[in-house]
Amino acid sequence: MIDRRTKLSASIPTGPKASLAIPSQFDRLYDLAYNLWWSWDPLGRELWGRIDPQVWATTRNPIPLLQYVEPSTWEALTFSGSYTELYVEAVERFDHYLDNDETWFDTHHRVALDGPVAYLCAEFGINEKLPFYSGGLGVLAGDHVKSASDLGIPMVAVGLLYRRGFFRQAVDPDGWQQHTYQRLELRRRPMLEVLDPHSGHPLRVSLRLNGREVAVGAWRVNVGRVPLILLDTDLPENDPADRPITHILYVRGREARFAQEAVLGIGGARVLRALGIDPAVWHVNEGHAALSLFERLSWEIGAGADVDAARRAVADRTLFTLHTPVPAGNETFDQSLASAALIDTISGVDADLQRELARSGSDDARFDMGALAIRLSDRTNGVSLRHADVVTKDWGELIGGPAFAVTNGIHPQTWLGHGMRRLLNENVGLDWPDRIHDPEIWEQIREIDDGRVWRAHAGQRELMTRRLRIRLREEYARHGQGSQRLRWLDDQLPADRLTIAFARRFTSYKRAGMIFTDPGRLEAILKNRDRPAQLIFAGKAHPADREGQALIKHVFELSQSAAFEGHLFFVEDYNLRLARTLVTGADVWLNTPIPPREASGTSGMKAAANGALNLSVLDGWWAEGFDGTNGWGFGEHSESDQADAEVLYHLLESDVVPTYYDRDAGGLPRAWIEKMKSSMITGLSQFTTHRMLMDYTEKAYIPLGGRSIS
Ligand SMILES: *Cc1c(COP(=O)(O)O)cnc(C)c1O
Repeated sequence: MIDRRTKLSASIPTGPKASLAIPSQFDRLYDLAYNLWWSWDPLGRELWGRIDPQVWATTRNPIPLLQYVEPSTWEALTFSGSYTELYVEAVERFDHYLDNDETWFDTHHRVALDGPVAYLCAEFGINEKLPFYSGGLGVLAGDHVKSASDLGIPMVAVGLLYRRGFFRQAVDPDGWQQHTYQRLELRRRPMLEVLDPHSGHPLRVSLRLNGREVAVGAWRVNVGRVPLILLDTDLPENDPADRPITHILYVRGREARFAQEAVLGIGGARVLRALGIDPAVWHVNEGHAALSLFERLSWEIGAGADVDAARRAVADRTLFTLHTPVPAGNETFDQSLASAALIDTISGVDADLQRELARSGSDDARFDMGALAIRLSDRTNGVSLRHADVVTKDWGELIGGPAFAVTNGIHPQTWLGHGMRRLLNENVGLDWPDRIHDPEIWEQIREIDDGRVWRAHAGQRELMTRRLRIRLREEYARHGQGSQRLRWLDDQLPADRLTIAFARRFTSYKRAGMIFTDPGRLEAILKNRDRPAQLIFAGKAHPADREGQALIKHVFELSQSAAFEGHLFFVEDYNLRLARTLVTGADVWLNTPIPPREASGTSGMKAAANGALNLSVLDGWWAEGFDGTNGWGFGEHSESDQADAEVLYHLLESDVVPTYYDRDAGGLPRAWIEKMKSSMITGLSQFTTHRMLMDYTEKAYIPLGGRSIS
């Protein structure tokens, strides 16, 4: 195992790290800065904060932090016994993490894979300083890679380097979403240029797009043990028209989008080959990476296989995961656009064959990434039980049977707040991160003292309140609000008030506006004198989605109206960090999608792990997660917004709010805390990416790429 892992890592040589003046005594900080392991390990995080709390608070990124450190600071740290101790312990943990040969994969499988799993995805949400994600799919992919690393599953991940990332959102005083794209400073990110193993020069592969050669370079990000390779066309040798191909995540123009997906799929496969990496399994995560299948088909045909044999050989090692709920959400292109882009790109796979493999159901004029991936994959899965049924219904014929389900999850070390993590350390055991996959350990949560659970959560909520006030103050000040109004904010979001959060992409099926269907009734709930509540909203709408933007404006305007003022807030620029703030601090996590369109949803899992109670339409993961004790479910067979909202109001009035405010003599809401415990147990035992990766390994990776060693 170890052997193969080191080999994988060594097969991706990289250029130099940024030059940082670190005293030799602390020189392993270099390695730590260039591996995102620190971001989900509490010791790792502490290591940076202790160097210079102020610089850390503003950068939250080890590389600029290390660039800014004054010599006098280093000197002080050198003499600080406690920092040295922390450093030594963190380095030991880090080394043990990388070298551990008793991971779940090592100990549970007497089966080895022939090579690593190649995991291809258009977005990766690993850390907010790497803005290569837009929403749930990317965050899931980031958590996927982290858990694969924790479990010792050999994996190499491939994505795109978006130098302009995804947009940052600001809301103007009228509530309109503003978009800004920042230029990523690569030298200040934990990214290393991938070198050609033979020449030692920066690695280049090339692909013909729209009749022109486009060079593709690669960068490496270390995510624990898993190398993430990010592809880049912004290279001096490329035509200025081709350099921006990889700039912007989910670029809007169809031709540009197709070029992106060609770089991801075809470029990704070529980069792995140029590095001598021969994956045992190819995991195509959503249709954006489907063009990798054409490239692999071409390899088989080039090696002498006829088309049928080549198709079988490709499919035999391929898993395709669909995340889209309905075919309409699936990525398709004009067939003519695709043929023009791919002319002479893939040798041995001519235009007719391309058309045949990618045609959309009955529509020959569409080039369908999902259909292509299904045709060339041995296995296709959906991301929750309910979603797998939907996939089977829509695609079963093409799949040739039912889709299987691997329900999504979250990486708990990433998403647990400090208070809850400490609670687990003290009550479940310090080694819980190594035993996440053991469902039995989580039952111990039931035994934890109610007061401690309540206080752990209260601490997290307090931190949320502080952070939200700062963000809201900045937003309101930019809007030109007066000092009285800014001071008013200091008293908002009081700690003893039931806090309901709704945060996710503003896309119409997620129905961010549903809870406002009857504003009068909602106002009465929120402003109840004895049992008040507050709503926090956050989320971005895609730049092309005017409807989503109008919805943001609507929520923002309501938040400024006399009816809801002080009880409803819209917080700008939803990202990984804000998501962490909200899922760790909210009491209730609200989700109101139109079923069955929420393929899985994952933010509710993050909230559940932190003891928040989900109040959600029974769709996606919640349709299997809700057990009657761990939150509230409704709207399984949605009739209309009106009818669903009725049920939601009724639940709030008759159950959610009263249970929250039903306190014992010591001020504890006993029944609520009981539900919190159930919620945590559900989240941590069933909806982690550890469980998800174990499922993928056993249901797909080993069956597709396994080889017994006897
Ligand atoms: C978890 C997460 C999501 C996914 O949220 P859903 O409610 O599942 O759509 C989206 N964006 C960010 C930043 C997240 O952390």
